[in-house]
Amino acid sequence: MDYFELECAVEEWAKDRDIFSKATPMAQALKTLEETTELCTAINNDDRAEITDAMGDIMVTLIIQAKMQNLSLEECLESAYHIINKRTGKMINGQFVKQETIDKMKQKNDEQHVPSDYKMD
Ligand SMILES: [Mg+2]
Repeated sequence: MDYFELECAVEEWAKDRDIFSKATPMAQALKTLEETTELCTAINNDDRAEITDAMGDIMVTLIIQAKMQNLSLEECLESAYHIINKRTGKMINGQFVKQETIDKMKQKNDEQHVPSDYKMD
């Protein structure tokens, strides 16, 4: 199955289990959060099988959420990419931090909350 066929199969699976007719978007979002927590645990345990399982489960929850919101994951991803592809920033403590966030912290002169790596210029 290609990606699109898998997405359709997940939607059918959810429909057959009355998820679209009975679940709420917030309950579904909490399911995504639960699966994301499982991903964090799997990463912490360096458990590749559980990482794969959790990432798949997260995608399932997002496919269902997208359908509930009358969106497609593809359009959500495209929208996000159009924003992030212009974004600048830098890697701080293992995360990409937006330049906008760094500038806001500097503007507020929020010295105690600005990690030392931010204080470059
Ligand atoms: Mg799971």
